[in-house]
Amino acid sequence: MVSVSLYTLGCKVNQLESEAIAHAFSVQGFRVLPWDRASEEPKADILVVNTCTVTSKAEQKARRVIRKALRDHPQAVLMVTGCYAQVAREALDALGRECGSDSLDAKRLVVVSGDTKSLLLDLPGFLAKTMPEEMALVSISQWLREKETSQTPVTERFRFIPGDFSLHSRASVKIQDGCDNHCSYCRVRLARGRSVSLEADQIRATLQALEAKGYAEAVLTGVNITQYRDTGILQEGALHLGALLRYLLAGTEYIRLRLSSLEPEGLTEDLFAVLGHPRIRPHIHLSLQSGSPRILEQMGRRYTPEDVEKGIRRLRVVKDDPFLGCDIITGFPGETEEAFEETYAFCERSGFAWIHAFPYSPRPGTAAYTYPGGVSERDAVLRVERLRALGRAGRQAYSRRWQGQEVEAILEASKESNPSFVTAVSDNYLKLLVPFPNQEPPPWGSAIRCRICKLPDRGEEFSRFDALGEYIKEESR
Ligand code: SF4
Repeated sequence: MVSVSLYTLGCKVNQLESEAIAHAFSVQGFRVLPWDRASEEPKADILVVNTCTVTSKAEQKARRVIRKALRDHPQAVLMVTGCYAQVAREALDALGRECGSDSLDAKRLVVVSGDTKSLLLDLPGFLAKTMPEEMALVSISQWLREKETSQTPVTERFRFIPGDFSLHSRASVKIQDGCDNHCSYCRVRLARGRSVSLEADQIRATLQALEAKGYAEAVLTGVNITQYRDTGILQEGALHLGALLRYLLAGTEYIRLRLSSLEPEGLTEDLFAVLGHPRIRPHIHLSLQSGSPRILEQMGRRYTPEDVEKGIRRLRVVKDDPFLGCDIITGFPGETEEAFEETYAFCERSGFAWIHAFPYSPRPGTAAYTYPGGVSERDAVLRVERLRALGRAGRQAYSRRWQGQEVEAILEASKESNPSFVTAVSDNYLKLLVPFPNQEPPPWGSAIRCRICKLPDRGEEFSRFDALGEYIKEESR
């Protein structure tokens, strides 16, 4: 039995695309191995590394994974795809040569650029018709070259719809790709191109299929979902994110919708008008990046701290104490101590329950790459640590506010060390541990009601969770 293994870096969109590729292989009878078991005998025959280009660290990690894979799997075929492959094909080809796979018959690394990634959904079908012993890279790279076209139709970017989510308990649906903004630090738009959207009725059909399969929640994801546009539905104008959500809620009965990151400029009255719906999760993650007006301007961001503050106030009106998270880049060129203190103070008064902070990473091909006023990595990392500590305190304060209250949650995996404990994610994004001392827990992926009872003390066995959840009942469909 031919086996395949995937290693994924980066965002939810990349995770979803890998899930779809894994599914495409499994339905063709290939054995899909978790990456950490790919080196166990019999080793994986086909490896896929789905890369990211958001930071230089992500690219360095991809290069390390590729080198190790070529070393540990001398017989395997390695395909490298994703955003780094889209913007640095030559560099990856050179890495392949550096690792001794330069002649065609010894060539074991094939770069499948990001915009042709969907070919990896069809490759299993081709390979399934090919005898294992002929599954050499020659045939695979020839097949890929024949299939590659200069212009990949937009629809190809939305073919990543896994029939099942073997790696995640909550489904996700890619509704949008690419971005029309020009943030000065961002390489994503160079890798994923202009913003494109999946037609609303296709999204609705996918959600109806997931609902029929018993999925209780779906994450709507994309590179910048606030730029969602579907010109096909409405007579006048285009369907934006708010109207899309109304359309999806009207076309489904039970499935809950969670939104992936939102650009603050997308916090419109049209969106607030639907966010209050009980089937939209009370969890909003903002790509904020800074709380300093000057730095936001230099980043080419399209909002001010005051705009975001107003948006946060509205979110806390339309939702009952929602879980609010944000992304922050520290050490952007020109970020003085004062500018950073503005960001810190903004995050402190906004009371975020999670702060995903990371140091600025200069990206070739971006405007900011040549900006003066660089900040030392040491200072950038110190600022990250201060924000992460603030985020941890915010999360504890948020969990304390919900202690004793009932929430809905999606069951995930049982704890290996003690199967009568099941992990779960609540509607307001708390990571829970739910004990089932006297009964069999409902199946993986089920929606349950539970009460937030005990918060972990430092060093306690379940301290990596936000709280213990006391099981009440399974949610009725
Ligand atoms: S909004 Fe800015 S940072 Fe985000 S993908 Fe678009 S250009 Fe990049």
